[in-house]
Amino acid sequence: MIDNIVFEDIETIKSNLKGDFFAGKKVLVTGGAGFIGSWLCDVLLSLGSEVIVVDDFSTGRTRNIEHLMQNPKFKLVKSDVCKFQEKEKLDLILHMAGHASPDEYMAHPIETLQTSADGTRNMAELARKNDATLLFASTSEVYGDAEIVPTPETYWGKVNPIGPRSCYDEGKRFAEALLMAYCKQCGLNVRVPRIFNSYGPRLREDGLYGRAMSRFILQALTNQPITVYGDGKQTRSFCYITDTVTGLMLLTASSKAKGEVVNIGNTQEVSVLELAKKIKKITKCKSEIEFHPLPKDDPKRRRPDTTKLEKIALWKPSVNFEKGLKRTIVWFSGKKY
Ligand code: UDP
Repeated sequence: MIDNIVFEDIETIKSNLKGDFFAGKKVLVTGGAGFIGSWLCDVLLSLGSEVIVVDDFSTGRTRNIEHLMQNPKFKLVKSDVCKFQEKEKLDLILHMAGHASPDEYMAHPIETLQTSADGTRNMAELARKNDATLLFASTSEVYGDAEIVPTPETYWGKVNPIGPRSCYDEGKRFAEALLMAYCKQCGLNVRVPRIFNSYGPRLREDGLYGRAMSRFILQALTNQPITVYGDGKQTRSFCYITDTVTGLMLLTASSKAKGEVVNIGNTQEVSVLELAKKIKKITKCKSEIEFHPLPKDDPKRRRPDTTKLEKIALWKPSVNFEKGLKRTIVWFSGKKY
């Protein structure tokens, strides 16, 4: 069963999309049990696609997709994306598998690099054999500690190639380079969204998997200290899940997106301390804000320039931070901890 908030948000995403591009298409979603992947599955199935999920559950969760198990148009394959093979003809591959949480990817740097490198190579080959369109979930992390903010796609990035975040950053950068090579050399129909801090229902909140947003909400709801790293002046631009998924699906369907990298994110920039204070205020919790050392190479500012997305998809993210945050807190409040 999906709850009301998720149900309403799926309807919102559907209303943002026009036409019947996805109806009847066979779609492979890698990382389909994860946060963004599971939302894609929900929307695709309700638009009439057939969906195959490949997930090894290293970071994905059964609970995100268990309501889809009885759907005859849904198939789950528990497998490593680096090894997965599919014999049936595919129309679209949405390659979302990856390790996105800094604490988790820093604990598993080899697997993180391998998923980006070997997993993406495997998906590129599968797309080539099937003549399928391939969307690859890249990240704002390819810009590293950006010196140009708001950051356009033309900025090459400032990334430490051997730092603690490099397994994620350089892995995604390699995958982007690989897909551009497939596009040039084999004509592969590839498109590369760079996703900026997406959040909403189903974002993992637990242990190493927790992101600042979901971890702070959990800490507030359980009256634990809210753990701000550094002085909390570093910024992020948080994009609500309905906007992220709409952007991803519009890019998948766009005839103008072949071979393009496109930022997807909200342009409202918020400091981490502001985020913690807002969560404290909305939840009315008793939690103190507790300051911890800033991790090495933590980007100071992050905000996308979304001009290209607006041009290609004729659309831009629209859920403001306050609205998305309240909705997310209401969703997390309905869970048991
Ligand atoms: N952060 C924090 N406390 C936490 C987790 C993260 O202050 O418990 C900070 C982190 O250092 C970063 C920001 O919040 O500056 C966003 O962290 P997130 O987990 O969303 O990952 P990132 O955007 O860095 O990839």
